Amino acid sequence: MSSRHSPELSGARATSPANTSAAGEVGRAPLVVSNFINGEFVAPASGAYIDDIGPATGEVIARIPDSDARDIDAAVRAAHSAFPAWSRTPVAERSRLLLRLADLIENNLEELARLESRDNGKTVTLARRLDIPRAVANFRFFATAILHYASEAHPTDGVALNYTLRQPLGVAGLISPWNLPLYLLSWKIAPAIATGNTCVAKPSELTPLTANRLAQLARDAGLPPGVINIVHGLGAKAGDALTSHPKVPLISFTGGTVTGAKVAMAAAPHFKRVSLELGGKNPNVIFADADLPEAVKTSIQSSFANQGEICLCGSRIFVERSIHDHFVDEFVAATKQLRIGDPWDEATDVGALISAAHLEKVSGYVELAKQEGGTIVAGGRRIDGAGFFFEPTVVTGLGCDRRVLQEEIFGPVVTITPFDGEDEAIAFANSTRYGLSATLWTRDLQRAHRVAAALDAGTVWINCWLVRDLRVPFGGMKESGVGREGGFESLSFFTEAKNVCVKLA
Ligand code: NAD
Repeated sequence: MSSRHSPELSGARATSPANTSAAGEVGRAPLVVSNFINGEFVAPASGAYIDDIGPATGEVIARIPDSDARDIDAAVRAAHSAFPAWSRTPVAERSRLLLRLADLIENNLEELARLESRDNGKTVTLARRLDIPRAVANFRFFATAILHYASEAHPTDGVALNYTLRQPLGVAGLISPWNLPLYLLSWKIAPAIATGNTCVAKPSELTPLTANRLAQLARDAGLPPGVINIVHGLGAKAGDALTSHPKVPLISFTGGTVTGAKVAMAAAPHFKRVSLELGGKNPNVIFADADLPEAVKTSIQSSFANQGEICLCGSRIFVERSIHDHFVDEFVAATKQLRIGDPWDEATDVGALISAAHLEKVSGYVELAKQEGGTIVAGGRRIDGAGFFFEPTVVTGLGCDRRVLQEEIFGPVVTITPFDGEDEAIAFANSTRYGLSATLWTRDLQRAHRVAAALDAGTVWINCWLVRDLRVPFGGMKESGVGREGGFESLSFFTEAKNVCVKLA
């Protein structure tokens, strides 16, 4: 496959053919995925299935249930029935079961990494290094965090004792996207069930395979039937049935901002608790005093890791004018070194985009960048042949008011814009409706803290990117989301605080 990706590509180098390749999977019979309800793998009520396309090949690699409200309802009933026993299960036992599931994921890391890569188009090396270890970490973290989750008590002037009970809510509805499939699904399932809720999860219809494998592993780990239910299908059908189900009091959603608004509207009539982790258009601000080689190296990662399909990717780079041209030269040279091609080739840096539709969208934004007056200084082209590949692309010459700098592209496309001084850097960084994350590069400690405080972002990285500690709060400002998850924020989100007041005198 890789030979198709000719080395003369302007923005990237092609990888050499590999012994094992995602393309080598062509012709294999598609897997048939089932829903996982009450501990059993079951067909959808409609009997209908949707094709799951492998991004590296364009081939159908699986058929997944086209679930509807009947399947969601069956899963919610199962979760509802399992809730009383699970919520009363001693916390040490819940912890033990989650740790066992974490071990099983770890024991199957290579298989899961390959499934993720095949389903999503990401490189297997990234799935091995990031996605699957993070799923293991999510289960381990919440299995142990729950052991230390205390609540407060307030002796009230000798008259009364107030204390807080933290109780699970019931059936948690969990909806996840395709870009980090198991990573984000486990980020929701682990805290939901650690705190004693049961759940119905709806993974993205574009990446069902690791969720399907997780269901098998959950059963092998000994999780009781009904604690984790997984229903596959389309967002507008299965997803909407979940968000509007009256017996689901809580929704944790990660996905696009437009979908987030629909989820909020479906949940509102039932007064559900909702956490929305949405889109981003993250700034990467580089001051003249930055460690430039380090800033270039990390900015290549933050721009193009996972094909730019990470909500935290820094898609708008702002560089202080005195070093702008030098930065562009260095950044473009490093971009052209990236190898694009077979996601299963160990040498590949950039794999395939998720779908033909997404490839169209990304190409459309690159055309728009030209129409808006931008210059494509690296990449800019899709790669002919099967699979959905697009060159890592660098655009210069566009101001902050251009659509290319305002709208989330969610692909391997980054803009570079010069700025003059700290105030302009902050104004440029904050000039979108999003506020998910930001990165800034400077050696000036005081400026680093000053600018971090002024940025509209739920997370600010200083002289680094994607350094994640599961204990810290995570979420977005503005149209990047509502609520925080992570660490005790997740435990708090997945529990109801109840005040109990006992009269003492
Ligand atoms: P999406 O919004 O299209 O889909 C996300 C999930 O929602 C999928 O499972 C989908 O089936 C479901 N869905 C779609 N319509 C629905 C509806 N009406 N009701 C209920 N569920 C519905 O997003 P996507 O394309 O899968 O993912 C990409 C987006 O996710 C990007 O915008 C990215 O920035 C965002 N994202 C955000 C974070 C974060 O933590 N903030 C993390 C990863 C991705």
